[in-house]
Amino acid sequence: MATRLCKFPKGITPCPKCGNSFQFNARSERCAEDCCEVWIECICGYGPTSFKPEHKVEDVWGSLDKGTLLLATEVWAEEIANNTPTPPTEDKK
Ligand SMILES: [Zn+2]
Repeated sequence: MATRLCKFPKGITPCPKCGNSFQFNARSERCAEDCCEVWIECICGYGPTSFKPEHKVEDVWGSLDKGTLLLATEVWAEEIANNTPTPPTEDKK
């Protein structure tokens, strides 16, 4: 399994656990002969995609290049949107 530390100077969807939005570990793992899974995890270890394999990005080479990482960050944002509990509603005026 390959791991690479990625920095996002502009920030992406913050980690719901620690609030980090600038540094993430990009990981790639071979899941079949001609297919790899790519995903990102927070540096604190939080990774919503780690328990939803069907939501990882599939890439033939598992390369951690810009395009693949972009897809992985989209998956990350989507996962957090789906996993974060709805915040309490504000009092109505
Ligand atoms: Zn985190």
